[in-house]
Amino acid sequence: MKIAVLTSGGDSAGMNAVVRAVVRGGILKGCQVWVVREGYEGLVRGNTEAPEPEPAPPAFPDLPPETDGDINLIHNLRFGDGQLLRDGTGDYISGRTLKGRYIVRVGWDDVRGWFSEGGTLIGSARSKAFRTPEGRLAAAYNLIKEGIDALVVCGGDGSLTGADIFRAEWPNLVAKLLSESIITKEQATAHTHLKIVGLVGSIDNDMSMTDLTIGAVTALHRICEAIDNINSTAASHSRAFVLEVMGRHCGWLALLAGVSGGADFIFIPERPPDTESWEDEMCECIQRHREVGKRKTIVIVAEGALDKFLNPIKADYVKDVLTERLGLDTRVTTLGHTQRGGRPCAFDRILPTIQGVEAVQALMEATPDTPSYMIGIQENKITRVPLVDAVAMTRSVADAIEAKEFDKAMSLRDPEFRESLEGFMAISTLDHKTKTIPETKRMRVAIMHMGAPAGGMNAATRAAARWCLRYGHVPIAIHNGFRGLLDDHIHELSWLGVDSWTARGGSELGTNRTLPSIDLGAVASKFQQHSFSALLMIGGFEAFSSLLILEEGRKHYPALHIPLVHLPATISNNVPVTEYSLGSDTSLNALVDACDAIKQSASASRNRVFVVETQGGKCGYIAIMGALATGASLVYTPEHGIGLDTLRRDVRFLKTRYTLDEKGRAEGRLVIRNEAASEVYTTDVIMKMFKEEGGSLFDSRAASLGHTLQGGIPSPMDRSRAARLSLKCMSFIERQHEILMNQPPKTRHALPGSAAVITVQASSIQLMPVQDMVGQADMKNRRGRNPWWLGMKDLVEALVGRPQLATKLPPLNV
Ligand code: ADP
Repeated sequence: MKIAVLTSGGDSAGMNAVVRAVVRGGILKGCQVWVVREGYEGLVRGNTEAPEPEPAPPAFPDLPPETDGDINLIHNLRFGDGQLLRDGTGDYISGRTLKGRYIVRVGWDDVRGWFSEGGTLIGSARSKAFRTPEGRLAAAYNLIKEGIDALVVCGGDGSLTGADIFRAEWPNLVAKLLSESIITKEQATAHTHLKIVGLVGSIDNDMSMTDLTIGAVTALHRICEAIDNINSTAASHSRAFVLEVMGRHCGWLALLAGVSGGADFIFIPERPPDTESWEDEMCECIQRHREVGKRKTIVIVAEGALDKFLNPIKADYVKDVLTERLGLDTRVTTLGHTQRGGRPCAFDRILPTIQGVEAVQALMEATPDTPSYMIGIQENKITRVPLVDAVAMTRSVADAIEAKEFDKAMSLRDPEFRESLEGFMAISTLDHKTKTIPETKRMRVAIMHMGAPAGGMNAATRAAARWCLRYGHVPIAIHNGFRGLLDDHIHELSWLGVDSWTARGGSELGTNRTLPSIDLGAVASKFQQHSFSALLMIGGFEAFSSLLILEEGRKHYPALHIPLVHLPATISNNVPVTEYSLGSDTSLNALVDACDAIKQSASASRNRVFVVETQGGKCGYIAIMGALATGASLVYTPEHGIGLDTLRRDVRFLKTRYTLDEKGRAEGRLVIRNEAASEVYTTDVIMKMFKEEGGSLFDSRAASLGHTLQGGIPSPMDRSRAARLSLKCMSFIERQHEILMNQPPKTRHALPGSAAVITVQASSIQLMPVQDMVGQADMKNRRGRNPWWLGMKDLVEALVGRPQLATKLPPLNV
């Protein structure tokens, strides 16, 4: 198959990772791959010049005589393909001109190092010509001329609409080209069908039928960085800030920024304020916040925000209202294009990589009868949905807004969006209505952090505490885990006290690894003494183990017959069953930041292999996903272990790779090793081995990331998921409490299901009874059995040129 990949519409972070994944994924599947420069415009312009003659390939280097599969393929990858685009998209690439050539055949190494670059290196454009039938006819001809029969388009809803139209028109375009004798009968027969797959690259996250678009999370990072910076100055001067963020038809960025940044009020297109006068509603809300002592005000306005009569709500006007009515010193900050820019975050490297590989797979499986797919993601699962449906549904959101059918617009958004909005309402605004819930329904909810600090712990606690206060419950913080509980180290949380916790790293409550088994009777008596109605534990494997102990302890201690919930939060992501723990995204971002810097240094002077050691205990999640996010050449994990045979092959691989590199250019490569991958082959041993074996080809150094992986400030994804998951835990607790309260007090008996862990499993979020999870826990090694990401090691290796494993890629989750 001959595949072309293009990026179109507004650029977004992660587009380069898409191109890299499609190029390498395609080559691994035996396809030839082209890139189209400047989006659809390049397709319309095509190639008017013949390619410059290829420079003669360097003489085949002397390789060790032994072959073991992968090395042969690297030769093919390196020399089988055409022109180098390495230096970007200028007209002159590697000394050769691309002038007059927009559809360019590329090879394996052309996309090396593209991960860390923002924007799109192959260029994007808004093409007027492609909107016309003549333009699309030219585009069809240019593809057929190159023999290309499959197209991967990465862009927003406009670009994917264009792709869908192109696909539908294709047979007519081919017939027209044939009737005008522009193509031959053979060409027409060979191109009766164009296979198309769409990937959604858009910072607004405005596409339906996928939870997240490529680039949206990076944009959210930029916005949160801005809010975090503004927060401190706003508090210092007791100011109000009105922030305008992108999103013409979609309020996702504004909403998630509101949740992650701890804003007071937000305006989004899908859900205008309910009242006739939103000005009154906003001022009342902010006034209440000020009255309880809040010194700063943040209002976020989506670019396309509307009132219920469809009048635009503009940041400047919001500022005037706040200044005039509340007398606040108010400033407007419009973030504009800074939201597009910058290095892609970890998620925008991993998602496009997996989706790019999936796109190639979808093309391989496509027949004239299968629909063209859009590759999406639902919770943690990569999905394929018919492109036509996704485009139609996206359009119907805009139509619903235009028809003032706001409930319908909301119903067409994904569950994460709807739940985030409900969550924002519940935790960001101070409710002034008197709480009238009956005494029996009121709870005293204890909240505890356990294990090591992880990004999002504080945000989860803030959400839980504010939810409690909103509904008339009492949130009680237990400091320093079970040890702190035994010392009565507890206090009631207040609405204002947790206000700035979304952006705080570490653990505001203090963590401790002591398990309740230290003195279960004493723990139970403390539960009784403080009249806890429920316990929320936020932490890693210790919290999971504690939950098991408490559940089993119910046999002996009636005080433990209350809802007991664990919200996984650990950078190691080693809690069984769940695919995601709070803190793991923050940690991956810390790793990506460090590795980008290390790689830059490694490439600066000479060929150098950096062996980077990660935390993670006996769980290789951070190492494997970090390797996928940084394009590391090798990854060592405790699950796979390290042996002499592996090391021998790895040394050979590195030698071969460096032998095949372009001469005169220093290359840095990364090897990621989990701290517990082997007791014998330590980071130092491996580094020294590489140094010795690298000889004149490459040098080696080691770096240990240690506790830096806990990250400083939690990532926006960890903050927003913290709020969402925490609120789901609270609803669960409330339901379980109600069930218990319906029982006669003397014989109250909590069912095993009321001791549960909140888990993300592929596309669903479930509160799973802890007893049902035991079978899937490897208690000795403190990790889950058969985690979904284990097979990603194969993908990491395949994408750096060790394709011996490429034929059996793992099921694709993120
Ligand atoms: P985005 O993809 O980011 O939503 P646009 O809406 O500007 O950005 O679309 C990008 C490009 O996709 C357009 O410049 C045009 O070339 C193509 N395109 C968009 N809509 C159509 C359409 N209805 N028919 C043909 N091409 C289209």
